[in-house]
Amino acid sequence: MRKITIAIDGYSSTGKSTVARQLANWLDYVYVDSGAMYRAVTLYAMRNGFISETHIDTDKLINALPNIRVEFRKNKGGKAEMYLNGENVEKAIRSMEVSEYVSPIATIPEVRRKLVRLQHKMGEEKGVVMDGRDIGTVVFPNAELKIFMTATAEERAGRRYRELVARGDSVQYEEVLENVTERDHMDSTRADSPLKKALDAIEIDNSDMNLEDQFHIILQLAKDRIAGRI
Ligand code: C5P
Repeated sequence: MRKITIAIDGYSSTGKSTVARQLANWLDYVYVDSGAMYRAVTLYAMRNGFISETHIDTDKLINALPNIRVEFRKNKGGKAEMYLNGENVEKAIRSMEVSEYVSPIATIPEVRRKLVRLQHKMGEEKGVVMDGRDIGTVVFPNAELKIFMTATAEERAGRRYRELVARGDSVQYEEVLENVTERDHMDSTRADSPLKKALDAIEIDNSDMNLEDQFHIILQLAKDRIAGRI
């Protein structure tokens, strides 16, 4: 069966990674969470003192880029987890603090260039589902299937809030809502590779959709593309 490339973009916490992972499992494709890569670079910058409350030392981060190794490794259950210079940072990169700084870090063209190069490599043999903000527009503009996911900010913040509480983080809903809206704004207005719907992407608003329905809709779209029906 021919293999295709599936790009899933959209706003923060729209459930892109959930559906992307489900699809990749079902199709036996590689799943790439490109946001995890930006989060890992942000964690590196935080740990190395390149970020203070008021300032990001962009030059230091750019100089350090050759020392930053980000890769996915599968855990025992087969789930891909993010490693930063050999250390499993899957949990650390999901903290509120990383969420607060990741969008400014993702505006830096040198950071994007490094990560997009890695993303191209991961998808060069097709059979990949990648989620992010610029996958259908910049990383894989020729992807056979492009999905653009949206949902109301309140619904998305609620989902993220429940996720953070479930893993034991102490956060306020309002703080999460503010973070989600700020990231959307910064991601959509940056000069390099802003978040926007590709002209040929299919928009899915999942505010009132359950995970199962959403998965079946997208899976059908993927099957049609694979079979060359569309
Ligand atoms: O997907 P996630 O919410 O984990 O992404 C974290 C941040 O990484 C986004 O808010 C965005 O700033 C950045 N990002 C990006 N391009 C991508 C994926 C993520 O700029 N392809």
